[in-house]
Amino acid sequence: MSLVIAIDGPAAAGKGTLARRLAAHFGLPYLDTGLLYRATGRRVLDSGGNPHDAATAEAAARALQAGDLERGDLRTLEAGAAASAVAAIPGVRAALFDFQRSFGAAHGAVLDGRDIGTKIFPDAPVKLFVTASAAARGQRRYLELIGRGTAADLAGVTREIEARDLADSTRTTDPLIPADDAMQLDTTPLDADSTFAAALALIEEKMGKCTLLKNMQR
Ligand code: C5P
Repeated sequence: MSLVIAIDGPAAAGKGTLARRLAAHFGLPYLDTGLLYRATGRRVLDSGGNPHDAATAEAAARALQAGDLERGDLRTLEAGAAASAVAAIPGVRAALFDFQRSFGAAHGAVLDGRDIGTKIFPDAPVKLFVTASAAARGQRRYLELIGRGTAADLAGVTREIEARDLADSTRTTDPLIPADDAMQLDTTPLDADSTFAAALALIEEKMGKCTLLKNMQR
């Protein structure tokens, strides 16, 4: 069995940066599963459709191509809102399940998203649930947008993140909730380096306790 590290948590909690660094550290491939939902939402918007419409959204998810994930317009607030809308549709989640599962199943991987530890890899030996206060997450996403040259206002960005988290946590299918066996990491007071160090300490402590996990390490 290969090492799968499942990282879940709300928007802008620092999952992506952490996941990338853990993947490099353990020599594993990395999948940002949010991109699948963002690309699906984008496809629906491109066709003039409604991201809340189940048939349209599921067809868009089934039609996804590798190139869709390379688009430069997936990180906008609009794409985030469309992603959250399509992500609440069971047919969309079902359409994207096999790709995520096979990405990690063969050789191990780090995946980040909302349901990795609960639905995609409930058997993952390492699960992290990464959180931060809404104010800290709003500030990070605001700086990220400004850094990319996108006009944004802090209060609006924070409101958008809170609305998306509420929708993600309260939807019926695969809501954003920590897996029972997830290790929790609050990154509110932490920068990227300290977040990585704290996560690695948690993982190594777990590995130290588990012989099976030690054998999975490359
Ligand atoms: O992680 P990111 O902010 O890019 O995700 C965009 C949206 O995609 C989330 O708000 C959520 O609705 C959805 N998503 C999901 N399950 C995942 C990853 C993302 O429902 N595994």
